[in-house]
Amino acid sequence: GLQGQVAIVTGSTSGIGHALAEALAAQGVNIVLNGLGEMTAIERTRAELAEKHGVEVLYNGADMTKPDQIADMVRAAKAEFGELDILINNAGIQYVAPVEDFPTDKWDQIIAINLTSAFHATKAAVPIMKDQGRGRIINIASAHALVASPFKAAYVAAKHGVLGLTKTVALEVATFGITCNAICPGFVKTPLVEAQIADQAKARGISEEAVMRDVILASQPTKQFVSFDQLSGMLLYLVSDAGASANGAAFQIDGGWTAQ
Ligand code: NAD
Repeated sequence: GLQGQVAIVTGSTSGIGHALAEALAAQGVNIVLNGLGEMTAIERTRAELAEKHGVEVLYNGADMTKPDQIADMVRAAKAEFGELDILINNAGIQYVAPVEDFPTDKWDQIIAINLTSAFHATKAAVPIMKDQGRGRIINIASAHALVASPFKAAYVAAKHGVLGLTKTVALEVATFGITCNAICPGFVKTPLVEAQIADQAKARGISEEAVMRDVILASQPTKQFVSFDQLSGMLLYLVSDAGASANGAAFQIDGGWTAQ
């Protein structure tokens, strides 16, 4: 079982990362919580997770734009807990603008946080997992790892890149009891998406209601947001023994978006 295993979840102070960390904690997994935010709010989140589920939760504030901090976080997890069983590369940001206006610093930041951080964390975690003969790497990609939308050049490029990284690592670790997979969610109602509704309205010159109806719900055939529980269900399958042969795959949890 998962009891006593150890997971790092990047970007777990909010949204999907927080929900996935909680799903693992509920199975008895000790957690390294990571992400930005206000320290008292983060400490409250950390203490709540630990208390509610009776697991150890350590916060590591590694900035996903800083390779050294990412590697140190992985080493610290192994040093503190003695093992590292699950790595979830989830931290991500969004920025929406036409490509000709896309700020270069936003491009660089999105590639760093949404793609390169997964490389650095994976690079540091794989030797530990190989030594153990066991490990699960799950990259939270997106439907945008498979299809594009206008005004999201950096995000779509980064998420396509994450899928390439996922497949490559999967091939390299396959004989070591390790798997590497991507979960590709459609729209999930998190702070990241709520901010996007406003940004999209500006970029397209339409109302926020029109963005919900014509942009977000237009691409998702179920006309429903994907829920945290639906993503957690896929995660728990991938980290289970039953998930051992799922490797290098992209699991679309997107209400049919990418079937179109
Ligand atoms: P969110 O904004 O709620 O959470 C993002 C997390 O990443 C936060 O904890 C934040 O602090 C952290 N983060 C951002 N920059 C960081 C940095 N430099 N260093 C460390 N942590 C940093 O967003 P979310 O919607 O929960 O997104 C989580 C992941 O899911 C992202 O990779 C996103 O692309 C992906 N995703 C989201 C949706 C959606 O509809 N919400 C859909 C598909 C994929």
